[in-house]
Amino acid sequence: MREQLQELAHLPAQTEDGVMMHLAANISSVKELDLVVKNGATGVGLFRTEFLYMDRDSLPKEDEQFEVYKQVAERMGNKQVIIRTLDIGGDKNLHYISLPEEENPFLGYRAIRISLDREDLFKTQLRAILRASHYGNVKIMYPMISSISEVRAANSILEKAKSELTEENIPFKNNLEVGVMIEVPAAALIADLLADEVQFFSIGTNDLVQYVLAVDRMNEAIAHMYDPYHPAVLRLLKLTVEAAHRQGIPVSVCGEMAGDIRALPLWLGLGITDLSMSAQSILKVKNSILQSSLKSSVLMMDQLFSCKTSEAVAGVLNKHMQKDM
Ligand code: PEP
Ligand code: MG
Repeated sequence: MREQLQELAHLPAQTEDGVMMHLAANISSVKELDLVVKNGATGVGLFRTEFLYMDRDSLPKEDEQFEVYKQVAERMGNKQVIIRTLDIGGDKNLHYISLPEEENPFLGYRAIRISLDREDLFKTQLRAILRASHYGNVKIMYPMISSISEVRAANSILEKAKSELTEENIPFKNNLEVGVMIEVPAAALIADLLADEVQFFSIGTNDLVQYVLAVDRMNEAIAHMYDPYHPAVLRLLKLTVEAAHRQGIPVSVCGEMAGDIRALPLWLGLGITDLSMSAQSILKVKNSILQSSLKSSVLMMDQLFSCKTSEAVAGVLNKHMQKDM
């Protein structure tokens, strides 16, 4: 089966009725790139940069980060590489910068909140990413955005980093695209406003599900309540996608849901054609895309969005899968 799937690696991910999808990879380290290339990913849709900061005793210097980002950019050639700025906090801690003990770490000092508070740390990372943008098709993405002010504050530090590099005569791509993760319900609810500020969205369903349902994604006692097919999640996805489409910016999905073949008709029906997932999932998802159709997915949408429970949503998706695939 694996070998048969491997034959799909360099075929387009096209539905039966000709809709082209793009399957990019989520990575956390350079090591993963061999599999990304082998499985024919259309790019890196999410580069989680946390690994660069973990298992060490001090912050990584700009040059060290630059070398890593450049390596990824060069390896992917003209395919896009979306580098997400540091998403530390929550379950991921750095012992060498003193993060506070928190009652609710996932609701606390995390991700962009730390970056905006620690401009030194953030600007170093932005400079490294900007420098790497000279060597490939690099884009920047901010995690855990919940307001317009955060985007503007992050962009103003980005502008400072650009001015510094310009003054130092260091090359970078001046018009590199900047996007945000949509992973906090507030961001989904103001997606129309956010779409005016950035060039793309990537929906982080892992956090979006945890925050909209108030279900800690790490807590086993309530794992059964962590439900990506809850109607509330579906509504936030729809809001986000409609806002992006109205404003004409691309929107992709990079949470675990992107690699779940049951969700394919949902993406097609919503008009999402860009997914980013673990490199291991790409061939399996592509195989399902080849047996899917836009037409039947669109026809299913009214039924899906009138479901009152996630059991009903799962029922519709399962039935669709049996019929379509
Ligand atoms: C997400 O929240 O869906 C996501 C992709 O980010 P992470 O899993 O790294 O929090
Ligand atoms: Mg997240």
